[in-house]
Amino acid sequence: MSLYPEELIREVQNRADIVEIVSDYVSLKKRGENYVGLCPFHSEKTPSFTISPKKQLFYCFGCGTGGNIFSFLMKKENWTFPEAVRWLAERVGVRLPEEGTWGKVSEAFKQKREILEINRLAAEFFHQNLIKTAEGKRAREYLANRGITSETVEKFFLGYAPPRWDGLIRFMRSKGVRDDSLLKAGLVIPRSDGKGYYDRFRDRVIFPIKDITGNTVGFGGRILGEGEPKYLNSPETTVFTKREQLYGLPMIKKGGSNLILVEGYMDCISLHQNGFTQTVASLGTSLTEQQAKILKRYSEEVIIAYDADTAGQSATLRGIEILVKEGLKVRVLSLPEGKDPDEFIRTRGKDAFAEQLSSARNFVDYKLDLAGRGLDLKTRDGKIKFIKNAISVLAGIENRVERELYVQKLSEELNIPRQALYEEINKIIDRTTLPNIGSKYKNSQLRDNNKELTRFKALSGVRKAERDILRMMIEDDSARDKIMKNLTPNNFVDTKHRKIAEMIFEMVNRNEVVTPNGISIKLKDDQETAAELANILMETADIENSMVDALINRVKENYLKLAIKKIKNEINQAEKIGEVKKAFSLLNTYHRLKLEIEQLKRDSSRKGGT
Ligand SMILES: [Zn+2]
Repeated sequence: MSLYPEELIREVQNRADIVEIVSDYVSLKKRGENYVGLCPFHSEKTPSFTISPKKQLFYCFGCGTGGNIFSFLMKKENWTFPEAVRWLAERVGVRLPEEGTWGKVSEAFKQKREILEINRLAAEFFHQNLIKTAEGKRAREYLANRGITSETVEKFFLGYAPPRWDGLIRFMRSKGVRDDSLLKAGLVIPRSDGKGYYDRFRDRVIFPIKDITGNTVGFGGRILGEGEPKYLNSPETTVFTKREQLYGLPMIKKGGSNLILVEGYMDCISLHQNGFTQTVASLGTSLTEQQAKILKRYSEEVIIAYDADTAGQSATLRGIEILVKEGLKVRVLSLPEGKDPDEFIRTRGKDAFAEQLSSARNFVDYKLDLAGRGLDLKTRDGKIKFIKNAISVLAGIENRVERELYVQKLSEELNIPRQALYEEINKIIDRTTLPNIGSKYKNSQLRDNNKELTRFKALSGVRKAERDILRMMIEDDSARDKIMKNLTPNNFVDTKHRKIAEMIFEMVNRNEVVTPNGISIKLKDDQETAAELANILMETADIENSMVDALINRVKENYLKLAIKKIKNEINQAEKIGEVKKAFSLLNTYHRLKLEIEQLKRDSSRKGGT
């Protein structure tokens, strides 16, 4: 049973574009009629995840996951079908029946939505407190002193948490929000005596953190006066996972200019205000793999602009590793010692910052620069140390051409034969990377071969015929009529195919229009069949109209063969236990099937079919 009328679900799906929604999760490239990308459901290096915008379906040829936009959201977000419908409906602006009628939505989903709503209210409270109250004056002055304009305050919806223990708690109570809900949202902390709660954020400038869809998922707060910690974030909640969020993410554009990655909220805001609108902050100093994956959806290149202090430097090095591993091009902005991007742009202006950006160095140059820092290259000792450091940097370059170029450069600069450098580099590579890469390569090669083989086997012969028939039934009205006159759903031997055929027969009998969407919605409770449907429809090779008869015969012949085999067994069984009457009646069926299959064979040989 569906919670929503099917027309409504179809309406939601018709308004949504699977390419647009999925590209929030996967970086997609156009290939022919379709889009391809790296599959979010299994680990791969070459894209086998395919989306057909025309059919509004996706299918991964690597792991076999597939279906419509709802299947995608259910898998990716771990939602139930009604949850996926609800979310998508909101996104595309379709009104669904109100609460109560969607009672089956899971508790976890409801709780998430409750927390998001509380966060929205809290952001509003902090914001009003900043711009309108007497209490907010100090925070307004603080921001003004740092050059933050009121437009920027609005754009980032900055706020101020009052210097009281229960400012937010009181406000929320007046809105009917319970204290324990605030705890789940991470906005309050239990008192140590166990009696009630107090506000987590007090006397702080508040930075609401939004996810890609614009929901406020958490907060960052900077202390106004003295005090520790200087910056405080929301704790992890069901809607806030710090390692998966980036501050400023909803503001940046896909395929725009290169991304600038900064450490802090103020850096991010300040750069945006000065026109560098492709800036995000990593919420703390160490970039995570998940954040790098998100960045990759937006751009091919990231410029790291962390603080120019020791902590910033080691964060930069870690960031480089992670970004390079995700296949991103990385450059590093080097600001004068001790400066952060916000300070730099305030004191030197945006033109100077733009200049710094354009001269940001490739990460290898940056690392080589660090490798020589503090060493006197004029001395023999210094030179040897530098070479040692530099070699381990070069050994880390995966691209051989790039490595070659750096070896050349280094050999000229230091006046050392290239061969000598190579020998040292190769020692490191042999020791670390090669055995790993080797075995990984072999394994994946083996796996791929097996995969190919099973796919080939599975698709050969009858299964392929069944799939082609189903595709024709969905895509070609005249072929469908012919097929329905000659086959029944029972003739499909593969259970998934039989199920799809049943759906199509049912739709035609009810005078419904047969569309990929229509069928895939009906398959919402059977994601395996939904994936098979997507796979079938991803096939683009044309089927000649003249093939219909041959395909029908192939499917039917296979069905008859199996039916005859089955009935033979039953006859044997009946004879064994002496059920003569039953054996006779089975024998009748047997002869009928035999006649049918012979007729079929005669027909197809006359038509020159299979
Ligand atoms: Zn996959």
